[in-house]
Parts: sequence; structure tokens; C-alpha cells
Amino acid sequence: MHVPHLSHLATADPQLAGLIEDEATRQHDKLRMIASENYVSAAVLEATGTVLTNKYSEGYAGKRYYEGQQFVDPIEELARTRAEALFGVDHANVQPYSGSPANLAVFLAFLQPGDTFLSLELAHGGHLTHGSPVSATGKWFRPVHYAVDRATGRIDMDHVRELALAERPKMIICGGTAIPRTIDFPAFAAIAREVGAVLLADIAHIAGLIAGGAHPSPVGHADVISTTTHKTLRGPRGAMLMSTAEHATAIDKAVFPGLQGGPHNHTTAGIAVALGEAAQPSFRDYAAQVVANGKALAAALTERGFNLVSGGTDNHLILIDLTDKGVEGKPAAKALDRAGIELNFNTVPYDPRKPWNPSGIRLGTAAITTRGLTEEHMPQVATWYDEAITAVVKDDEATLDRVAGEVADLLAGFPMPGYATA
Ligand SMILES: *Cc1c(COP(=O)(O)O)cnc(C)c1O
Repeated sequence: MHVPHLSHLATADPQLAGLIEDEATRQHDKLRMIASENYVSAAVLEATGTVLTNKYSEGYAGKRYYEGQQFVDPIEELARTRAEALFGVDHANVQPYSGSPANLAVFLAFLQPGDTFLSLELAHGGHLTHGSPVSATGKWFRPVHYAVDRATGRIDMDHVRELALAERPKMIICGGTAIPRTIDFPAFAAIAREVGAVLLADIAHIAGLIAGGAHPSPVGHADVISTTTHKTLRGPRGAMLMSTAEHATAIDKAVFPGLQGGPHNHTTAGIAVALGEAAQPSFRDYAAQVVANGKALAAALTERGFNLVSGGTDNHLILIDLTDKGVEGKPAAKALDRAGIELNFNTVPYDPRKPWNPSGIRLGTAAITTRGLTEEHMPQVATWYDEAITAVVKDDEATLDRVAGEVADLLAGFPMPGYATA
């Protein structure tokens, strides 16, 4: 049963309440391994489901365009100052609606239409908002992409530097959606300085690991840091921009009034709660466990003959190239979903296949670590992957259903925040 309880919704709109209850049960029974997802605490859920959603607050604390900000101002200040303290930055803006608008605000703050910027190729682990041709960032600006090395699966910093010297970009972006290895922020910063570019570190995936001390921080290296709040950071869906004092005004102006209207105050409150949780010593344990689980799972998958891009992981994320398993990414993801393991199909670097049915799958350990799984469970998880991938090749639906049952049995012993078994 969903926690907080949906008693009013069950009366007012039973159809919708039923769907939400079903989703809660689904999240409880499945091994949720989409690398960008997590489970927020019941406290975060409570904060996001409050009367704060009723309030308009265009502007910033002390400088609002509407009255009645006596309590919203301290709530947003709490989120902002907690972010600044947790990450050790001069300035944080907690208003971006999500990671994509946060990134667009950075373009608005520093680039003019047509300006050149450097970022990781989408098919090699970048993000749509890093200059994909279908994104506003690709239509209105001029992206040049660096790639990962074909042999190592890792970003080659010499290649990044050569491109930067040749193209003289206004901005360099590091970070992405499918990078299983540690990002070398000092090396990116040295290149950005050399060519006079702004360095944007998009830490959406690894923000929680950075906050918890399990990945090096871009602070002191990047001019601007963008992050979502809902991935490893384990807050509500939202985003933040952080920067040096020098760029604070440009960032704030770009978010509001440059790009957005009123901030989502209920989300801001949830972000404040999540940042408070991330400052606790237990969150450091969580971040370390996420990485320990990632490494243990990578080792167990490798032992079972899976081909991991870059040969393993330094963080929460694993990218598997399924080419030698004789199955494509999409049918593999669908089979795993039936087997109770939720992830996404994903391109791998130099993928000869198209993004709608690429050669790989991407998985992560952030959510299953929140459930309480540890290294000791990872060999079992790898066995289920192996069984499901073997089953899809043989069209063996019985095995997929058996694995789904075993997954739900295991997870029954690990409580889910936001859910109570009735
Ligand atoms: C998830 C992600 C985003 C976008 O976040 P949304 O909240 O989905 O808009 C941007 N950049 C990176 C690197 C991401 O992983």
C-alpha cells in the first residue's frame, strides 16, 4: 500500500488511486535497475505532496513578484543553503524544473545562438541536451562532439584537447547518461582554461555519489554544475544549478526570468528534505554501497560472459554490449522486464544499430541499494540476467516468469520507502 496513504484520492478518484497503488506494488516487486531512477524516502514524498503546490513565487527570496512568501522564502533558502553546504559551492539555484531546462538555462547564460560548444557524443553516453540534432541545444547552437576511445571505452582526454584547440568552443560540457567511469574534472578544467571556454559539469547521474564522497567532485574545477535531484541524489524530480560566485547572477537570471516562471515550491521542499538526508553520515554509507554493488555486479556479469563497455564500472552504472550474446538491446530489455528486472536498452559506443533498437542495455545500482541489497546479492542478480538473456534467445517464457517470481520473493525481505505491505 502506498505511503502516505491515498485515502482521499481513493474516495475522490478511485480509478487514479488504483493505478497509483498498482505502480507502488510494481515498484515494490521489481528489481528497479534503470540507472537514472531511485526510491525517495517517505519524508520526501510527504514534502512534495503538500499545499506548497498552491503557491506562486516568481523571483527569488526577498525579491518576489507576488505576496505571501513568508514561508516559501525560508523553504527555498533552506534548499539553497543546504545545496551550497553539501556540495561546497558558492551559489546554488534550486528552481530548474528538471535537468533539461537546467541545461538550457546554462546555454542561455553563456552562449549566443550559433556558438560552438564541445560535449560527449550522445551515442557514446552524452545527453540529448548536450547538442543532439533534435534538441534545442543542437538546433540553436553548434555542437562538436568528442567520443570515447574504441579500444578502452573511456574518454580520451588528448582527443578532447585536440578538438578544443581546433574548434575554440565557448563552452565544454563533461558528464552524461551512460558513463561507467570516473570523470576527470581537473583534466577538463585545464582544457577549458587553455581555450577560454566555460566548463559545465553535468553531474545528473552521479550527484549523490559526489555528495556522499564516492566520486570526485567538480567543485573547484567546473564554472557551472548542473544536476538533476532525482537520480543517485535520491530527491524528487527536479534540478539545481551550482556555480562560482562570479557566475551566480548570470545563472539566476537565466533560470528566472530567462527561461522559467514560478518555481515548483512543493518540489523545492522535497529537494530540501533530500539534501538534508544526503548530509547525514548514513548517506555516505549509501553512496559507497552503490559503488560497491556496481563493482560486484560488474564482476559477476563479466564472470557470466557479458561484455561490459570499458570492462567494468567505477560508479553505479553498467553498460552491456549484447552483440556477442546474439540478442539486441530492445528484446533483451523487454525480456528482463518480464523477468522482474527493469532497465533500458541503450546504444553502446560505435553502435552499428539505431537508438530505437541498439546493441546494448544500461543498468544501475542506485535503487536496489536503497532497497538494501549488498554485494552478497550481486552474483544472484547476475545469474538472473544470464537466465533471462538465454531465455529470450530460446523464446523461453516460462523461465522469465520463474525469475520474476524469484525476484519478488527476494525483494519481499527488503522494505520499500513509500510502501507498506498491507
Ligand atoms: C537525466 C539527465 C538530464 C536530464 O534530466 P531530465 O530531468 O530528464 O530533464 C540531463 N543531463 C544528464 C547527464 C542526465 O543524465
